[in-house]
Amino acid sequence: MALIVQKYGGTSVGSTDLIMNVANRIKTYYDQGHDLVVVVSAMGDSTDRLIEMARRIMNNPPPREMDMLMSSGEQVSVALLAMALSRLGVKARSFTGGQVRIMTDDAHMEARIESIDAGVVRQALQERYVCIVAGFQGVDARGNITTLGRGGSDTSAVAMAAALSADECEIFTDVDGVYTTDPNKVPGARKVSRISYDEMLELARLGAGVLHSRSVEFASKYGIVLHVRSSFNNLPGTLVVREEDVMEKALVRGVSLKTDEARIAVKDIPDRPGLAANLFGRLARSRVNVDMIVQSSGKENRNTIAFTVPEKDLLLTRQVADEFFKEIQSGSLEVDERIAIVSAVGVGMKSHSGVAADMFGALAAENINIEMISTSEIKISVVVHIEQGKKALEAVHRAFGLERPA
Ligand code: ADP
Ligand code: ASP
Ligand code: MG
Repeated sequence: MALIVQKYGGTSVGSTDLIMNVANRIKTYYDQGHDLVVVVSAMGDSTDRLIEMARRIMNNPPPREMDMLMSSGEQVSVALLAMALSRLGVKARSFTGGQVRIMTDDAHMEARIESIDAGVVRQALQERYVCIVAGFQGVDARGNITTLGRGGSDTSAVAMAAALSADECEIFTDVDGVYTTDPNKVPGARKVSRISYDEMLELARLGAGVLHSRSVEFASKYGIVLHVRSSFNNLPGTLVVREEDVMEKALVRGVSLKTDEARIAVKDIPDRPGLAANLFGRLARSRVNVDMIVQSSGKENRNTIAFTVPEKDLLLTRQVADEFFKEIQSGSLEVDERIAIVSAVGVGMKSHSGVAADMFGALAAENINIEMISTSEIKISVVVHIEQGKKALEAVHRAFGLERPA
């Protein structure tokens, strides 16, 4: 008999009927004698609705109160799922993150899990209970409720699997696996049977919302195989595994689109040592997540540094830049929110040249202008105008032969 951690996302528990569907699925495993820990998200779009209510009260609500509010969605779904299992005659118990001692740092709304003392869960498993754990939430050292960032229930599940040394970790969602790109955006996308941790991590960071990027970091660190599959059918999904366990070779495994980033240009700053360190040091201390950095020098020893930041960090970025300009007594800021980042990811790129040229060629053929470029060993990202994002995604997907055969 195995210890299985399963995670069900928002759509999979979007109504009481769907919660009964999930309960029936769990019962099948339970009846086979397995031990089950089930992590669930809030029902449907209820987290979005909670956030909307907060925004109606104020623009910039205190993060601690946002976490108190947002974590409530998961408390509803764990309780309902435990009831649904009881109705089917399955012993079940629901737990909040705090009850399972999912300890995090104090970075509200973006907290990191530091440790889990799953003692209560182990005890309940021994008594043959199915343990239903609220995803997305934890507590900090002072007992404040924290949340792990949007989509964070995946990370709760993988962290539980690591803490309990589970035999399997299944991520049930509304698609039947990881595709070459978002199948809801590009209908010709193809399901991949296996993908490496590194590829999945890059894709998740670069916009493939199917997994929370930190869940992939956890899985990679603890060697946990993730099985991403549908809660609506029994098809095998996608395995996220070590690179050497991916059978099918591919130059580009997948492509992604990210539209919630903004491009910042810090202009008119003197060309002298230490200024980039000063600016990016300030941004790092404010926990602004900077990506793609490009410096260009202009006239009279004046530089422009352009970079991307998540749109949600824009206010903070402006504040940090203002302090920086005040100190160096020059500089100005330009912000462009109308951008999209399109990326191609694949470990096959490590040993091949010309991938970037092919990607740029595909974009040129569609008359799409590239505003910024960044590369790593296994990915190439470009910034394009937001209105060309989808077209660029399709062009790159096609250029690397990722479509499903007709
Ligand atoms: P859940 O609520 O189950 O966590 P999410 O909405 O967070 O579900 O993630 C599933 C969604 O991820 C899919 O509906 C799909 O639109 C999107 N997605 C983005 N990129 C990919 C990809 N490469 N493969 C599969 N799904 C993707
Ligand atoms: N309910 C949270 C969200 O909507 C966490 C999750 O779904 O994983 O972001
Ligand atoms: Mg999700």
